[in-house]
Amino acid sequence: MRDDAIQRAIDEDLARVLYAQDALAFFTHWFVIAVLVSIYWGDMPYPQWFAACFVFYAVVNCASMGLLLYRRRRPAALSARNWIRLHALRGALLCSAPGLSIWFAFQTPQSDLPVLHTVILATLAAGVFMSNGFDVLNFSTNITLVLVPAIVLLFGSHNFDRTILAVVLTFFFCAVNLYAMSYRKLFQRVVEARVDQQQLAESLAEQKQRADEASLAKTRFFAAASHDLRQPLHAVSLLAASLNDASVTPVQHAKTADHIVNNVEALNQLFNQVLDLARLETGATQVIRLHFRLDDLFERVGSQYRPQAAAKGLALRIAPTTMVVYDDPVLLERVLSNLLSNAVRYTGEGAIWMGLRRAGRRSGGYIEVRDSGIGIAAAEQERIFEEFYQVANPQRDASQGHGLGLPTVRRLIGLLGGELNLRSAPGRGSVFRFPVQAGDPAALVASLSDTAAGGPSAQGRQVLCIDDDPSTLEGLTSLLGRWGCIARGVRNEALALRALEEGFVPDAVLSDFRLANHRTGVEALTTVREALQRKGQEGAVMLLITGEMASGELAALATQGVPVLHKPVTPARLRRMLETLWQQAEQDRARSAV
Ligand code: ADP
Repeated sequence: MRDDAIQRAIDEDLARVLYAQDALAFFTHWFVIAVLVSIYWGDMPYPQWFAACFVFYAVVNCASMGLLLYRRRRPAALSARNWIRLHALRGALLCSAPGLSIWFAFQTPQSDLPVLHTVILATLAAGVFMSNGFDVLNFSTNITLVLVPAIVLLFGSHNFDRTILAVVLTFFFCAVNLYAMSYRKLFQRVVEARVDQQQLAESLAEQKQRADEASLAKTRFFAAASHDLRQPLHAVSLLAASLNDASVTPVQHAKTADHIVNNVEALNQLFNQVLDLARLETGATQVIRLHFRLDDLFERVGSQYRPQAAAKGLALRIAPTTMVVYDDPVLLERVLSNLLSNAVRYTGEGAIWMGLRRAGRRSGGYIEVRDSGIGIAAAEQERIFEEFYQVANPQRDASQGHGLGLPTVRRLIGLLGGELNLRSAPGRGSVFRFPVQAGDPAALVASLSDTAAGGPSAQGRQVLCIDDDPSTLEGLTSLLGRWGCIARGVRNEALALRALEEGFVPDAVLSDFRLANHRTGVEALTTVREALQRKGQEGAVMLLITGEMASGELAALATQGVPVLHKPVTPARLRRMLETLWQQAEQDRARSAV
């Protein structure tokens, strides 16, 4: 790529330099014509041939001037390389007349004519060197035609003086060739340095533009984020102040409390959306792929939006499919939820369609969400993927969303290895489409809806939870208890080891990442795993829960395959993760037993 650019730059510079000398060359050749005609005037051998030769010389000289004028008018008529080739042809024709006409000098008895002609040719050769030395094709054709006939004829005349002259001329011929070679190298280096500098300047300008754009995007992000966050906070502070008002009735108090709860919930949702995006950005979101029936997921997401669609008089059609996919059902659910909620929000009448388009027997297919809604103008189709960008919500009414859905969807699909494609036109609806991988029906997990509702596999499982925060520990153990697990909560590694000594045999060990006394969940899980190994109990699955966005240790855990869940952990996600880990552990055990 760089080599091409340099070659092009060299060619362009060469063509410019070659043609730049042509006006001067035009007068030089007239001078040579005049001198040669005058020295032969008294004793002109073969006058017709001589006249024809010099008329040809004069015509070619005029034509070369014509070529120069044409190039000045239409420099883009040919590529730089072709201009160079044409210049070499013009040079060859122009130099052939003075070069070959030395033959006339040897046809007269005048002994000084060959010497005089040779001197003129040497002068012409110096001009050729100065004006054509940069280019190998132009230089070698011109210099050969100017000097080689003279050298050959001088050597062939078997005269001592002329032989000496022939030797000197040969030496001169070799010397100018060598000089021209180093001249060309120097020229090439100068052009290379210029191109390098130009490319550096261009890339600096490009980087600066990218940095400016990123800074502008960040400014827009913070302006919109602070506006959307401040709005509910402001409302909460006003509402909270009114709680102290003694004149307010208990009914009004209850109403105010309700408003506060709603605003806090809105704030919480927005925080979660921003955190989700940040987690995707820092690469802290883990992908847990399972083989599952796509129909289950469609059904689950569809059932969430059917009431809203029905309330607006919209038909929500979900195309049935038998496809088993290999993907992360939780992340995919977030993608489909976002797309369906947008489809319902931005469709006034008509229908919404969600389904799979097969791409081939093995390679999976594409999930499509179509609507017959307001559509998106071409100019907006890239901008709607920017954080906080909304097409028509200038007053930033929070009930119309925050503009974080599509940026999250695009990043999620990117994380799952696909690309989100959008086709839309104003008034004609929108189609969002992205690829999914085909799964293996033999490796199918239990139905996704079973998992969410609490399947048999959680029942009776013993789970050891390590967390230094008592309220989180309490929440976690009671959630596990509701799923039928026997949960034991401990606040540090030492208490975890004591629980093992007391005979608690866990099927799963969950630990928070940051523990008291500068200990980490990684260390706690390692200690517990070693203790279990010593007792010969190796079946427990380990899971880390963290609020960290990005840390070296977490990245290392991800590469080691230690499962990590990020806070806030939804019960469904925790449940699904545990079920999957137990299922995988059972499959591993069955495989190693074979
Ligand atoms: P939100 O919907 O919360 O505003 P999104 O990021 O999901 O944020 O969408 C950004 C913008 O893209 C929306 O404000 C809307 O203008 C446009 N948009 C998204 N989905 C659709 C759709 N299905 N039809 C028309 N416009 C859409």
